[in-house]
Amino acid sequence: MFLDFVLNVLKTDGHQYRESIFQCPQCDKKYTLEQNLKRHIKSAHTNFQINCEYCKKIFKRSDVYKKHLYTQHSKY
Ligand SMILES: [Zn+2]
Ligand SMILES: [Zn+2]
Repeated sequence: MFLDFVLNVLKTDGHQYRESIFQCPQCDKKYTLEQNLKRHIKSAHTNFQINCEYCKKIFKRSDVYKKHLYTQHSKY
């Protein structure tokens, strides 16, 4: 999702590829460096949280949760 968004920005930017703009998908902040945007998302939009529907354990990352489902509950 994040990468799709960046690609769209690059496309709509037309011919001006010299300075890529990375805009936060969740607010209006823009950055010229991808790492700065990632840092911003991490610090400003880290409300992501999943509760395991089987054991109610809390996960902050979906990939970790999926791995947990697979290893602990044999799902997915
Ligand atoms: Zn933001
Ligand atoms: Zn679980």
